[in-house]
Amino acid sequence: MRDDAMTKSEHTQSVIRSASLVLAGAGHAHLVAMRHWMDSGWSPPPGSLLISSEANAWYSGMMPGLIAGRFTLDECAIALAPLCQQLGIGLVQADVVALDSHKQLLELSTGAVISYQHLSVNTGSRPLMPEHSDNSVLLVPAKPFPDFIAQWKSWQQSPPVSLMVLGGGAAAFELAMAINKRFRQTAVSVVCSGQLLGSLAPGVQRQARHCLMDADIKLIENCHIDTIAADSVWSEDNKVMSPDAVVLATGASAHPWYRSSGLSCDAAGFILVDERLCAVGAASVFVSGDAASANGSRRSGVFSVRHGPVIAHNIKAVFENAPLQSYQPQGNALALLATADGGALMSYGSLGLGGRFTAPLLGRWKDYLDLSFMKRHRL
Ligand SMILES: Cc1cc2nc3c(=O)[nH]c(=O)nc-3n(C[C@H](O)[C@H](O)[C@H](O)COP(=O)(O)OP(=O)(O)OC[C@H]3O[C@@H](n4cnc5c(N)ncnc54)[C@H](O)[C@@H]3O)c2cc1C
Repeated sequence: MRDDAMTKSEHTQSVIRSASLVLAGAGHAHLVAMRHWMDSGWSPPPGSLLISSEANAWYSGMMPGLIAGRFTLDECAIALAPLCQQLGIGLVQADVVALDSHKQLLELSTGAVISYQHLSVNTGSRPLMPEHSDNSVLLVPAKPFPDFIAQWKSWQQSPPVSLMVLGGGAAAFELAMAINKRFRQTAVSVVCSGQLLGSLAPGVQRQARHCLMDADIKLIENCHIDTIAADSVWSEDNKVMSPDAVVLATGASAHPWYRSSGLSCDAAGFILVDERLCAVGAASVFVSGDAASANGSRRSGVFSVRHGPVIAHNIKAVFENAPLQSYQPQGNALALLATADGGALMSYGSLGLGGRFTAPLLGRWKDYLDLSFMKRHRL
């Protein structure tokens, strides 16, 4: 544990609240767990808390649709207060800024310190930042969503002339298509350090390239952007472009407080968990979603949703002295990539689908799945 992990508590000993159970973050896994508990009629012990940066949980699968103008803000948000009320959980709107897993204390952005008996972490990740930036180009991380949405609203008054989306995964593709659709006059480009959608089916990679080409979006692959300086983006001393803004959809990086928590982390700073989604060496802490470094699991909403039932069962089990369940990662995960016009591309294992006739049907299927998730998880 680093000495600076818990500055506030160590210096002031200002423990103002203690809770049997603290849920940190309203990520996908906790939303699923809360729905499971409601369906089964179980409630966490009195005094349990949900700590969330936001009053709402934003559903990432619908964010590109929001940007493209296909969904409203309300359609993409799940209000947390009614869920907490139904389960008898207190809602604290604040950021966790530090965790001391040895003393079982959490420090919040409000200065409050919470002592917990059991903790479940589902606070997700942030996009990776370029190695160097002099802030001469506006950097817009795709997460946290409220900040991204605020920038998108400001662009509606004054759209950028040129915009680069950095990243080569599904989020980068979808956001580029959505921004292009919404801001017709903006020259959009996608730059990625490897191949576009390199981890998805080859058929989808081809379809996605066609989509970008048809939409007049410039694609630059195998180009690692390391520096933002002098109004431009650079790859190993070569100027790549001088866009007005760079949207970061660069994959997941860990919150710094994961590493300083005293919990075992992997090289990238994500919290190592065993098959029960317990933090390695800390049985009082569960970790799910992007925050977790779990064997066979990947960082996506789909995997986080699959963590949900295991987290729901295991949290209940620790209060009932019942056996814990193990998480079984699925081999393949379905990816449906929105093309901003109501259509979608599909990747599952080596199977890729899209194209003129299939994409509209896949789009309808994606909308159905996304809207069903929202319907099931909000009150
Ligand atoms: C634009 C975009 C589109 C995407 N589309 C898809 C998709 O279609 N399918 C898919 O599978 N994946 C998608 N992803 C990836 C997906 O968003 C993440 O992998 C997934 O959200 C991770 O879920 P999670 O449960 O770990 O956390 P999240 O769903 O990210 O939730 C974390 C929660 O914790 C809160 N929080 C964060 N930090 C703190 C803190 N310090 N204190 C308190 N609360 C905190 C946040 O406000 C948030 O509510 C997309 C990502 C992006 C950027």
